[in-house]
Amino acid sequence: MKNYTKPIVTVNDNISEGVYMASGCYTTTAYIHQTPEAGRGDYRIQVNGKHSADHTKEAQTLTLSFNQNVTYSSSNGTLASAETGTTLVINYTYHQNPTDNIGLGDVVVTSEPGLAITGVSITD
Ligand SMILES: [Zn+2]
Repeated sequence: MKNYTKPIVTVNDNISEGVYMASGCYTTTAYIHQTPEAGRGDYRIQVNGKHSADHTKEAQTLTLSFNQNVTYSSSNGTLASAETGTTLVINYTYHQNPTDNIGLGDVVVTSEPGLAITGVSITD
């Protein structure tokens, strides 16, 4: 675990390690669980969604917002927005039961020091 560093504390006091937001039929959490040791580098972000609805879905769209510009590196989904900016939109194709938890895995971005997540949502 040499690369592990303490997650960044964001403006949301309710969850010290990230952001937590409910929108539509998803409650979504996102937190940075790895930051670069020095300078510009990779941030790894874990995203989890909790679905609460009466329908089943095969596709989800994740929107992540940041306090500063990021450049997308990788995820388990398909990038649907510009590669660089303060907002990333990523499409996923998970089978989603009416009430279900899904882990979207890591979203990896590159940014300058001081990155924080300012918003997250999943829609279907
Ligand atoms: Zn739904």
